[in-house]
Amino acid sequence: MTSIIASPADLLARLLPAHPGGGLRVTDPATGQVVATVLDGGTADATAAVDAAARAFPAWAATPARHRSDVLLRAYQLMTERSADLAELICLENGKSRADALAEVGYAADFFRWSAEEAVRSDGDFTPTPTGGARAIVTTRPVGVSALVTPWNFPAAMITRKAGPALAAGCTVVIKPASETPLTAYALARILTEAGLPPEAVTVVPTSSAATVVGAWLRDARVRKLSFTGSTPVGRRLLAQAAERVVNTSMELGGNAPFVVAADADLDAAVAGAMIAKFRNGGQACTAANRFYVHAEVIGEFTERFGAATAALTVGPAASGAQIGPLISARAVEGVDALVQDALARGARISHRAPAPEGDCYYPPTVLRDVPPDADVVTEEIFGPVAPIVAWQTEDELLIMLNGTELGLAAYVFSADLRWALKLAEATEAGMVGVNRGVVSDAAYPFGGVKQSGIGREGGRDGLRAYQETQYLSVDWR
Ligand code: NAD
Repeated sequence: MTSIIASPADLLARLLPAHPGGGLRVTDPATGQVVATVLDGGTADATAAVDAAARAFPAWAATPARHRSDVLLRAYQLMTERSADLAELICLENGKSRADALAEVGYAADFFRWSAEEAVRSDGDFTPTPTGGARAIVTTRPVGVSALVTPWNFPAAMITRKAGPALAAGCTVVIKPASETPLTAYALARILTEAGLPPEAVTVVPTSSAATVVGAWLRDARVRKLSFTGSTPVGRRLLAQAAERVVNTSMELGGNAPFVVAADADLDAAVAGAMIAKFRNGGQACTAANRFYVHAEVIGEFTERFGAATAALTVGPAASGAQIGPLISARAVEGVDALVQDALARGARISHRAPAPEGDCYYPPTVLRDVPPDADVVTEEIFGPVAPIVAWQTEDELLIMLNGTELGLAAYVFSADLRWALKLAEATEAGMVGVNRGVVSDAAYPFGGVKQSGIGREGGRDGLRAYQETQYLSVDWR
């Protein structure tokens, strides 16, 4: 599985389609070296992508669902066959560890498989009307050309989670990947076309000017859907722009996941869960545990065990086999460090820390103790390998802290008392809650947030519905 690449050029030749060159530089965060240059798209590229998607839409929408399902299943198989190469590509442009990259490829491919399975299970209804004399047919149709805008932290999964259900529903897509990670997007587009998707049904438009490309799409009357994953501030702006033409939108935005440890929790399980909830992707996940609320009775022991596991993490480039890679950029490191410095200035202490190599993009995995509950590192999305721990004593004060935020994506609860854990989970304002588990993401279940963490769900049964419109036909039955 862990093929060592001879050079990026070999890898890129194996995975990427022919694509337009240009001035957008893709760098390896581990070395700062430019590994490729790609199209730096502008308004004309955005419009050309929609031209293609609009041309391809009627024929693709009219294909039998079984055909669309078969194409997506082949795409799943191709991703699986190429998983080692795809993981190398993700490491190259994103910097995450090889284990995280391989896990991402598996998770991402699953959205093609799940969408293939869902493609043939479209809902519908045929009923006599309550007042009699008529029959009602309720059916669905694809929403149309869909613009997919994705972040860099999961360069493959954030695309397949959208493109899978969109194509399954009969939509065609234009994709604007994060400017940091366009190569994986190209590799996925090639896989889809090799699997039998008409080339015009998927176009990737990388750009250094996201507002130009996405703005052009939102003004284009042929674009009927915007599915966005990214930060809450950008999501808010795009919602305002989408309002102009009342574009159908799905929003997967920022998170600030609490991780609760009760006094009766199995601490081995809680530490194992904390390690994955916090350090998967180096903490650069919207579902990452952002704030740890540990019952005062066990906070000392939990902090020692979790801290020891954190201090033992290895940090370095993916090629070294390290568990934690660099952050995406030097700017990201500065942002994480500013949160830590603010907490330290307010009385927090570094409890445990792993060594990290020199380099602009590395940040040492860190556990903070004695953190004030209102410190920025608790209230803001960290997006890095830092775990602030706060004590709690009563359920009432815990709930106030859990829900005292405008974000509500994921949450985690560890307790031996499942009844208490479920009660707390139901009282937590979050779209997803892991109970005695540090991972919630699964293509088969609805992923998404409440409050300012988003609108709509991806995956599960809801995933396909996001790309369908309901149509109701009222039929005279006399
Ligand atoms: P970001 O909002 O900066 O960028 C996301 C995408 O939007 C990128 O493609 C970017 O180029 C584009 N973009 C940026 N400004 C834009 C503008 N003015 N107009 C149009 N497009 C614009 O987010 P990021 O830094 O890439 O990703 C990190 C954020 O994403 C975090 O907040 C994280 O929680 C969130 N995220 C959420 C989920 C989820 O499913 N809820 C998943 C992954 C990441």
